[in-house]
Amino acid sequence: MSGPRPVRAPHGTELSALGWQQEAALRMLQNNLDPEVAEHPDKLVVYGGTGKAARDWRSFDAMVRTLRTLKQDETMLVQSGRPVGVMQTHEWAPRVLIANSNLVGDWANWEEFRRLEALGLTMYGQMTAGSWIYIGTQGILQGTYETFAAVAAKKFGGTLAGTITLTAGLGGMGGAQPLAVTMNDGVALCIDCDPRAIERRIEHRYLDVKADSLEHALQLAAEARDARRPLSVGVLGNAAELVPQLLAMNAPIDIVTDQTSAHDPLAYLPTGVDFGDMASYAAKDPAGFTTRARESMARHVEAMVGFLDAGAEVFDYGNSIRGEAQLAGYDRAFAFPGFVPAYIRPLFCEGRGPFRWAALSGDPADIARTDKAILELFPENESLARWIRMAGERVHFQGLPARICWLGYGERDRAGERFNDMVAGGELRAPLAIGRDHLDCGSVASPYRETEAMLDGSDAIADWPLLNAMVNVASGASWVSIHHGGGVGMGRSLHAGQVTVADGTRLGAEKIRRVLTNDPGMGVIRHVDAGYEIAESVSEAKGVRVPMREG
Ligand code: NAD
Repeated sequence: MSGPRPVRAPHGTELSALGWQQEAALRMLQNNLDPEVAEHPDKLVVYGGTGKAARDWRSFDAMVRTLRTLKQDETMLVQSGRPVGVMQTHEWAPRVLIANSNLVGDWANWEEFRRLEALGLTMYGQMTAGSWIYIGTQGILQGTYETFAAVAAKKFGGTLAGTITLTAGLGGMGGAQPLAVTMNDGVALCIDCDPRAIERRIEHRYLDVKADSLEHALQLAAEARDARRPLSVGVLGNAAELVPQLLAMNAPIDIVTDQTSAHDPLAYLPTGVDFGDMASYAAKDPAGFTTRARESMARHVEAMVGFLDAGAEVFDYGNSIRGEAQLAGYDRAFAFPGFVPAYIRPLFCEGRGPFRWAALSGDPADIARTDKAILELFPENESLARWIRMAGERVHFQGLPARICWLGYGERDRAGERFNDMVAGGELRAPLAIGRDHLDCGSVASPYRETEAMLDGSDAIADWPLLNAMVNVASGASWVSIHHGGGVGMGRSLHAGQVTVADGTRLGAEKIRRVLTNDPGMGVIRHVDAGYEIAESVSEAKGVRVPMREG
């Protein structure tokens, strides 16, 4: 009988599948469910509310079994976390094709999704949960670090020293916030209603201390701010209560954001509900819970707008909390911007995004060698070098050792080819799985997040992620995924992912060169098409062909 049990990816060089492409998919699936990596592995939940790696344990077992016998010219098809077929393809084709959580437009809402989920017909794949390239909280750390660095550059003279950032949500993704703020020399005050989330971040060295009360938290934060000393403070409580309380206290907050699981109203704790009763209440009365969660989010967002009016820098951190607050009737929910139009879009125009790789050997020394290679490849990029050094010192690996860094068009392919050479030359003990978040420059349509406020109004055009997935299939990626609802919830996003294995072979090098050129190339052409000048100059300088600008 298959049921919950601890899962861990094998380390070392011994294959249990017929080749490294299949072995990589197998290890990354298992790694997503490693108790070190996943937030709730017993429920197959990796991160982001209920983002899962497999639909149920039987499906997980069937995927493991199939990947172990899958041939070099075969492809396993996964429909929302369940393997539904194996087809003969060819060597250049992906070994796995994944479609998660997709629903037809008019049916694309949480209610219908949950009805189908209860029937065992689908699962929520979030972004990297169901596409097997989640690498723990580090996966979001550099993006969060870059975002806070952009806030510092925009408003605080290039550093967060002497400032206090208020946020909530210390889960799989949100847990990166305290470390990203302290890496920018600031002070972070972080609220979570789950004591385990706070403890886990302290254990993993993402959060420094836990305060006994809100007053204690404020005192610790103010002392550190006055000494211009970086510090992150966790405080237990409901953000929908504590953020309004802090506003009423005139707390000296400079920056406000939020990363509770607001995209899913059943994962946001309403006020007046004990954390211990949350799961049973949500299961018993989803409609009543949703209404109360949305009302609480409206109070939370109203207080964020209060801080905005008081002069703080306030932004939505990609969890759709503004949309939910608006549904509850709060009419100023969109008074503050999302983080992509505010800070990230210029990077997307250059094809930059969260490039990442995992050492299938399980050996941290492999990642140390790749870190060194990145520093050698891009000596002129000082902020990248600063990040790689800090990450080497401060990032605690979860599961298979991995690294993330934001690289752009013309950079990712160079890194990938170098890594493949290192595998071929025996500098690394085993191959690497090279992938990225779905939150990338050319792989998402998400009008509340990645494509909010596009220059040409094309926010909801969802052709781009589909083209992205197709070009990655055509270019030789090892596995490719198309998901719906990640980040911001059902009905609000479509996005695609790819992972390509550096296995040290010549064929591997050919695939890597194409995938890691074309994948970020989608970001460049998407932003050229929308009329962004930065993207136009990148496409001209780097020779990215855009037919409508030729002839
Ligand atoms: P998670 O489910 O692992 O963690 C959410 C945390 O919020 C939990 O620890 C929970 O206890 C806490 N929480 C829920 N309601 C609360 C309340 N009322 N008060 C205080 N704490 C509360 O989710 P995650 O992976 O950390 O993702 C968080 C959100 O960020 C999601 O909506 C996700 O879709 C979004 N996200 C953003 C980005 C980005 O780049 N900005 C990337 C991925 C995900």
